[in-house]
Amino acid sequence: MTQKPSVHLDTVLQHTGTADFDPVTGAAPVALPPVRTSTVRFKNLDALQQAAEGKARGERSVTYGRIGMDTHAALEQVFCELEGSERAFLASSGLGAITLALFSVLNSGDHVLVADCAYGPVRYLDKTVLSRMSIDVNYCRGTVEAMAAQLKPTTRVLYVESPGSLLFEMLDMPALARFAHEHGLIVITDNTWGAGYIYRPLDLGADISVVAGTKYVGGHSDLMLGAVMANDPTLVRRINDTHYAMGYSISADDAWLAIRGVRTLAIRLKQAADNALKICEFFASRPETQRIFHPAWPDDAGHALWLRDCTGSNGMLSVALSLDEAASRRFVDSLTLFGIGFSWGGFESLVQWVDPSALGGHGYWQDGAHSVIRLHIGLENPQDLIDDLAQALARATA
Ligand SMILES: *Cc1c(COP(=O)(O)O)cnc(C)c1O
Repeated sequence: MTQKPSVHLDTVLQHTGTADFDPVTGAAPVALPPVRTSTVRFKNLDALQQAAEGKARGERSVTYGRIGMDTHAALEQVFCELEGSERAFLASSGLGAITLALFSVLNSGDHVLVADCAYGPVRYLDKTVLSRMSIDVNYCRGTVEAMAAQLKPTTRVLYVESPGSLLFEMLDMPALARFAHEHGLIVITDNTWGAGYIYRPLDLGADISVVAGTKYVGGHSDLMLGAVMANDPTLVRRINDTHYAMGYSISADDAWLAIRGVRTLAIRLKQAADNALKICEFFASRPETQRIFHPAWPDDAGHALWLRDCTGSNGMLSVALSLDEAASRRFVDSLTLFGIGFSWGGFESLVQWVDPSALGGHGYWQDGAHSVIRLHIGLENPQDLIDDLAQALARATA
């Protein structure tokens, strides 16, 4: 199908990756089947050679099943549409996508500045692997001033995430990108929160965007997936080569599930965002609430940046409560509609009791006395969720 350039992303997401018509019958299913393969067969040696030449030029040319055939290509196209990128590369998890992005651009001896609001396991990657490869990492607030203060002659990458993990700190992406480019640095950003739909960091100047498709793209808490997107041909080439060299690969079934999930991304995000605002209103009315972290909430410190840079929101929010540790744990344990679990972006509500040690490294967190609860607001009826939160607060404070 030829895509009209003027159609909206919502429309594109319904028409990307549908099955082609059978040339003989002129018929097709709507959904592309999951094309599972390890071996790619060729009609003759000429066809194989053409594929190998395309691959050598860095094109998406398949000689072997690892990078995947039609289903994978369709999902890559989905991510390109979402992020406004030239190419997308798939990894078997969001964290895998982060390692792909970093390994594509870093050499030993390089220095990386990581925004301290980034997804926690990035620190574990640093501690266990990057340090062993003599890659030097520093953490600081995701602001131009903080990053400028830590710049070294060996700095090569700014690794950021906006809004950040746990407290959803909005970063000024255009300012960070300008600063980075003045100093010849590459900006890698984790766009799992935005899923390429409500926030498009490549349009705002970032060089590489990483998305955990595990979250809102998949949308049903049933698959692990990551993707790395870029536009610059040199970067694309480096990611392409690293992706191949390192053997990143996902199953056709997971690609299929992600394509199926993304059809409803727009309406799921909108509903989750509407529900989350209702939950913010509820918390704002409660005496236990010290602060609400949700950039679409007017009192959030990042609200102005959110208004400027985002086109929507999602179901993620955190709330600082004036409960001691035991009471905040009682609150979490008393919830009946919120699953206690990591991850988010599915259809269901989740709660995480945020370990104070995880917040310790966030410069944005300045109120250590309170307990922080992170919620993922799902697609349940919001009044039911509010009733559940209210009864759990009553038990916590009883
Ligand atoms: C969950 C998450 C990841 C990692 O994704 P996985 O698929 O679970 O590996 C990366 N970044 C952010 C912001 C996340 O929330």
